[in-house]
Amino acid sequence: MQNPKQRYRLRAPGSGREAIAEASPGGVYVDRESGEEMTAISAILPLAPSESALIRTPENLRACNRCDQLIGLDVSDCPYCGLRQEPADSK
Ligand SMILES: [Zn+2]
Repeated sequence: MQNPKQRYRLRAPGSGREAIAEASPGGVYVDRESGEEMTAISAILPLAPSESALIRTPENLRACNRCDQLIGLDVSDCPYCGLRQEPADSK
């Protein structure tokens, strides 16, 4: 298994902030910035375990320019390194 941990989209119910992190279904996680509880709302492809985890890049993800982690297109700040992300629809 190259990708034993599943990534989930996490959402903070109060602020609506979202992040992507390795998580477990039903787990509760805390937004590192606001301290708000975040709950996993959906799994992020590729599903683990997956042999194609390293080559598949879902269209709704992009790589952070600084840390190269895959993050959601609608995430304003990288959940891994905090880098401010450019708007996804900027051309
Ligand atoms: Zn980053």
